[in-house]
Amino acid sequence: MCGPAFHECDISCRKEAMHPLRSVVSVALRQRGYVMGYSGFRVIKEGLFGQKGWKPVWRDPAPKPEYDAIIIGGGGHGLSTAYYLAKEHGLTNIAVLEKGYIGGGNVGRNTTIVRANYFLPGNSEFYSHSLKLWETMEQDLNYNVMHSQRGLINLFHSDGQRDAFARRGNAMINQGDDAILLDRDGVREHLPYLDFDNVRFPIYGGLYHPRGGTARHDAVAWGYARGADQRGVDIIQNCEVTGIDIENGVVKGVQTTRGAIKAKKVGIVVAGRSGQVAAMAGMRLPIESHVLQAFVTEGLKPVIDHVVSFGMGHFYISQSDKGGLVFGGDIDFYASYAARGNLPMKEHVMDAAMTLMPMIGKAKVLRSWGGIMDMTPDGSPIIDKTQTEGLFIDCGWCYGGFKAVPGSGFSFAHLMATGNHHAPAAKYRLDRFRTGVGLMDEEGTGSQHNLH
Ligand SMILES: Cc1cc2nc3c(=O)[nH]c(=O)nc-3n(C[C@H](O)[C@H](O)[C@H](O)COP(=O)(O)OP(=O)(O)OC[C@H]3O[C@@H](n4cnc5c(N)ncnc54)[C@H](O)[C@@H]3O)c2cc1C
Repeated sequence: MCGPAFHECDISCRKEAMHPLRSVVSVALRQRGYVMGYSGFRVIKEGLFGQKGWKPVWRDPAPKPEYDAIIIGGGGHGLSTAYYLAKEHGLTNIAVLEKGYIGGGNVGRNTTIVRANYFLPGNSEFYSHSLKLWETMEQDLNYNVMHSQRGLINLFHSDGQRDAFARRGNAMINQGDDAILLDRDGVREHLPYLDFDNVRFPIYGGLYHPRGGTARHDAVAWGYARGADQRGVDIIQNCEVTGIDIENGVVKGVQTTRGAIKAKKVGIVVAGRSGQVAAMAGMRLPIESHVLQAFVTEGLKPVIDHVVSFGMGHFYISQSDKGGLVFGGDIDFYASYAARGNLPMKEHVMDAAMTLMPMIGKAKVLRSWGGIMDMTPDGSPIIDKTQTEGLFIDCGWCYGGFKAVPGSGFSFAHLMATGNHHAPAAKYRLDRFRTGVGLMDEEGTGSQHNLH
């Protein structure tokens, strides 16, 4: 995962063989020497001969002196932006500049939950669009990202919470997505292992979102990287942007640890580092960076076959295909750029887990890690132009940007290519924090800076 180019050997490619046009393109690209081909035969052959014949899945080019567009940040959002710029808008003279390695940021650190259960206008249509892109992503990228629509159940524990989830469910249905309000017995049918008796926060029911689920997070990064590379995008790892060149209010390019690179358009897509990179262009963003932690247990036999979230504490859980229970909670409450978390939040998450499903106490936690979240005051993201001509920004995804990877890339590519806001993302304007007009808050409680 951490080399300059990921070597891939676990992807089946029957779909590629089935699509004649894709096959022709793949053959042409393979002849240019940089596309890995897959087949059952190939897997067997490599297995017999020591896995020595696999080639890098994307190239490792040196930066060119100039590109039409530069994307700063090779996370999920940056890679999907480059992919859709090439695929939807025919822009291929593009570089993605990543200071580390592909998959090393939040795109490979999250708890992999994918859903479209947002309540507020602005978010609702955006995440709905994004989920539709998830549902065709594997065919589109010809890459197995292990998208699993196993269903998400948000539990509620009071009459007031039930009302709020009923409203949310209606908003989801009005948006064209799916939602089913379960009573206590309905939840018990799906999740019999939860503690229903003698608990401090009795389970009243749950909002079931059948199309919600999970995906293998780093495969999403690899899939978009491969797709962008195949279309000619240069993915340049170990290349940190250290400055943004601006003349008379117009962007001219960037300074990097591998030299200066010119470009007419530059997109900032650096998640937890947004404030720092935007400062290179003289911008002060309404963003604080906080750590969010995740935890994974040893591999267990299948026991949790949905994504489940607790309503009386910040806790959500699913089980990976390898068997590990993957779970997380709230952000650490102080601002930090450290990609690791503190002990009080670990204790809080474990408390919530034990309250909800005491059986989890028998599992051993193998690993925990943190990622840096770009938190906005209203909990919603920003996809917008900046005051500098040619400079665009996509940030503020808080703790929910993995599910947004395809939608964000699609909408940001649209904005960068056409100069017009893409309809599902039209409310994600930067100036809402200056004017107060158009502020969104997922909680429906108004903008509460300290609660995010
Ligand atoms: C523990 C945890 C759990 C989460 N769970 C979920 C979840 O279940 N569902 C969900 O939807 N979301 C979840 N998220 C949020 C989601 O992962 C993020 O919102 C999303 O991944 C951010 O976008 P990205 O993938 O582009 O970020 P990143 O992968 O962080 O990409 C940004 C990239 O920019 C690079 N960069 C930074 N500065 C520079 C520079 N100067 N020059 C060049 N490159 C630079 C970084 O190295 C990084 O690779 C979670 C996050 C964490 C940490």
